[in-house]
Amino acid sequence: MLNRPLSFFRAAWSAFADGFYPPTCLGCGRSLWLWRDAFLCAECENNWSWLNDNGCRRCGEPLGRYAAGVCQRCRTKKPAFTRAIAVAPYREGATDALVKDFKYHGNRRLAKPLAELLAARIRRCWSLDEIDWLTAVPLHPDRYAWRGYNQSWLLVEELAARLPLPAAAVLRRVRDTPAQANLPVEARRQNLRDAFAATAPLTGKKILLIDDVLTTGATANECARALRHAGATRVFVATFAR
Ligand SMILES: [Zn+2]
Ligand SMILES: [Zn+2]
Repeated sequence: MLNRPLSFFRAAWSAFADGFYPPTCLGCGRSLWLWRDAFLCAECENNWSWLNDNGCRRCGEPLGRYAAGVCQRCRTKKPAFTRAIAVAPYREGATDALVKDFKYHGNRRLAKPLAELLAARIRRCWSLDEIDWLTAVPLHPDRYAWRGYNQSWLLVEELAARLPLPAAAVLRRVRDTPAQANLPVEARRQNLRDAFAATAPLTGKKILLIDDVLTTGATANECARALRHAGATRVFVATFAR
């Protein structure tokens, strides 16, 4: 569960900073009382599902209740990233709608609250002096032109305002790839092969890669491969949903 008491001042400030836009619940859109948590109403907070820290130690995949360690997929094929974490399970509760709103329906304002939750999760999972730079999974320029923003980079900017970590655009998409959603795991890997490249040498750097959603991990894995190819020693991955 959320363990993040928000003060009246904080909520008031965030309302002020958002240009007096009344804070509304991320789950149901209801207006929130100023002294309440600025992200979720009490009902949604109670019903929201969050991921715990008991998933696979590499990819974060939820494991059986009594299982501990690394999932079958990571055991078969070790990912190029060190560890992936996420805040909430995709396709459960309102997470799905939230992510779609953020990604496809132009609701950029969601970057702040999503990054707030993600920042709390990152602080809990890693010591920040293990990380040099924040970066995002890049969009292909064509897709960027069409959408007008890279939702993952919006998260990076909000995270950089909350964590003592600089943001650096160290990845670019070398080629566009067909939509991943309907492809099976192995096809996703093939589809993304060499789709990303680093923009600079990254010798010895430890990078925290941000994306909105992690599904099979194929995108994170390809990005991590490109970063490591450029010399990064460790790549951590944090997404809002998985
Ligand atoms: Zn609500
Ligand atoms: Zn795993």
